[in-house]
Amino acid sequence: MTTDKKPSLTVRIAVAMVAGILFGTLLQWLMPNGSDFVIPLGLFDFSLRAFLVDGVFEVIGQIFISSLKMLVVPLVFVSLICGTCSLSDTTKLGRIGGKAIGLYLMTTAIAITFAMTLALLISPGEGVNLSADTSFAGREAPSLAQVIINMFPSNPFTAFAQGNMLQVIVFALLFGIAMALSGKAGERIADIFRDLNEVIMRLVTILMNLAPYGVFCLLAGLFTDLALETFANLAKYFFVVFAALVIHAVFTYSAILKTLTGLSPVMFLKKMRDTAIFAFSTASSNATIPVTMETATKKMGANNSIASFTVPLGATINMDGTAIMQGVATVFIAQVFNQDLTLTDYLMVIMTATLASIGTAGVPGVGLIMLAMVLEQVGLPVEGIALIIGVDRLLDMTRTAVNVTGDTMVTMVVAKSENEFDATVFQDSNAGQNIEEIDFLHLKD
Ligand code: ASP
Repeated sequence: MTTDKKPSLTVRIAVAMVAGILFGTLLQWLMPNGSDFVIPLGLFDFSLRAFLVDGVFEVIGQIFISSLKMLVVPLVFVSLICGTCSLSDTTKLGRIGGKAIGLYLMTTAIAITFAMTLALLISPGEGVNLSADTSFAGREAPSLAQVIINMFPSNPFTAFAQGNMLQVIVFALLFGIAMALSGKAGERIADIFRDLNEVIMRLVTILMNLAPYGVFCLLAGLFTDLALETFANLAKYFFVVFAALVIHAVFTYSAILKTLTGLSPVMFLKKMRDTAIFAFSTASSNATIPVTMETATKKMGANNSIASFTVPLGATINMDGTAIMQGVATVFIAQVFNQDLTLTDYLMVIMTATLASIGTAGVPGVGLIMLAMVLEQVGLPVEGIALIIGVDRLLDMTRTAVNVTGDTMVTMVVAKSENEFDATVFQDSNAGQNIEEIDFLHLKD
């Protein structure tokens, strides 16, 4: 394939991330508070903002996100069908689902409990003056019954069109089971789905090769207009959420992975880097599904029969990073508004945040909508959200990276416990890297 020695894709993506952040910060300095940098050129004025920020960065960044999203539904549907119809018995499916959902809920509950404890110790809301200049409208939490009913699509094509992941998962599982029960006819279609899966995964690889450009543009654009002055006011809140996110991703996940699988947390975290950067720059667990899936299977050795199920499920129902933000934000808002929360309130927060994550998809900013449900549950003013909105985008990006790390960690635990795991792939630090190098100029070897 490629002959020249260029840096690995991981290095290129990491460099793009750092360069994007630095370049954006430089532009922020050139064009503070949304202003422009205009160079008069006689016939017309050249606007740096129109050309770079609203032009190049916006176009490439949005195309990058859309192309990732474009793959999510076909990839989940096809690979989940391949996974399901290769399972020998359906009881296994129930077991995998039970383990994954159990672990997802458990890690979310641990995350929010830890976050609230840290927030109570540091008291980020003390001394903050109360001025919410934007408003935030809440939304009612759906009942658990409604969430369960909503998992079943009345029309699979509507589910595809709307990208409703839980419905796509349910339809793919049922379709896969029916294929496994259909003898020769099922086997014939299974071959087609396996080929389709190969091709779609190849498409994921192609996109990953273009990721450095996408990541650079997204981050440069974002950092150009990041309202830095809000950070000073909310430094303590920001720091507590950020610290809790890092501790949870590095220590809690490592401890769970080591205890339940014996696998090396260092290797795990190293292999997570690309995926975490994708999640960070897109702020969407959903859009990151294709990359998470590739990492779990090709780099970490989880079998597709597990990852095709647990990764999209996790992107939808597992949001530890989001739960951490909600835990800290609840304590913060209670302190700012001088309201005391009882132990029952705290338990209520843990329960609502954990359950709310089940019905909400992993897309940018959804954490704030879930926070509104949590605040309402314990009688705190929903408008409090307006106080933290200013720093939320950066935290959203960081917590999304934590969310996908959690999805992958649980996938590894389930894969290992089901013996659907290739240890040699996990131990090989270069696994999956050769397939990432694509020679676009010579499509056939
Ligand atoms: N953006 C997050 C995700 O996609 C959800 C959130 O916290 O807003 O996982």
